[in-house]
Amino acid sequence: MTLPMTVPAPGLPTRVRIHEVGPRDGLQNEKALVPAAVKAEFIHRLAEAGLTTIEATSFVHPKWLPQLADAEELMPLIDDVDARLPVLVPNERGLDRALALGVREIAVFASATESFAKANLNRTVDGALEMFEPVVTKAKDAGAAVRGYLSMCFGDPWEGPVPISQTVSVSRRLLDMGCDEISLGDTIGVATPGHVRELLDTLNEAGVADDRLAVHFHDTYGQALANTLAALEHGVTTVDASAGGLGGCPYAKSATGNLATEDLVWMLDGLGIETGVDIGRLTATSVWMARHLGRPSPSRTVRALSQKEI
Ligand code: MG
Repeated sequence: MTLPMTVPAPGLPTRVRIHEVGPRDGLQNEKALVPAAVKAEFIHRLAEAGLTTIEATSFVHPKWLPQLADAEELMPLIDDVDARLPVLVPNERGLDRALALGVREIAVFASATESFAKANLNRTVDGALEMFEPVVTKAKDAGAAVRGYLSMCFGDPWEGPVPISQTVSVSRRLLDMGCDEISLGDTIGVATPGHVRELLDTLNEAGVADDRLAVHFHDTYGQALANTLAALEHGVTTVDASAGGLGGCPYAKSATGNLATEDLVWMLDGLGIETGVDIGRLTATSVWMARHLGRPSPSRTVRALSQKEI
């Protein structure tokens, strides 16, 4: 199989933890319902490919997200998976459902902007944070780790560019309420590397260290890997990605959305940065999933490798 030549570059971490979001963030944007057994096989295959954190599903009300309405059916099918398996929970009811199934790690989903908080959560930014506070407290009391997703950290489709101070302020509040980690989401993919550095610098100045941060870039404008490299050079070592680039924009077929895990691993392999991921096994998994979904993976690396030996 074709692999990049390993040539390390200075100023980068030796190891990166990939937070795989394909089964949750990826599949939730897929219209064709994927059976729980296929999701379970997907998650098993991702773990076998070496991914150590795999976001499994969401405990949002089944009415709002039919694709992930089978969380109760799925969790017992993956209880033998050797990986961290966080789940998204929108509220206390979702948390109770997750905890009842033995979930040890959850994520909540906040917004840096009023427009997206209104569109996605039907709340103000403050109202959403107030809703999450008891969820985070209860999860921590139950011994669960909590990740705070923050959407629209760089730009917002209604409001345009998002002031860095605004993203920093909401990040700070998520950490203050007890989140262990914040995932900075470039939900519409408009960030560029200088913007990433500036946001991370300002977060550091506000007392938020890089080891509490993850980055979640979308490749809408082809910037996801450049932004990831900027974040790694800054000192961030947790990167969100989606196997095969699953989770394109729900409004456009095969549009580029989430950074593809294979594209990320190709770059990290070339830089000699350890991830534990076997790119061949991962690509084979994404090709298999693309067949289930009936459309090719938007990942350049999956396409290039699958046209060769795989
Ligand atoms: Mg995403």
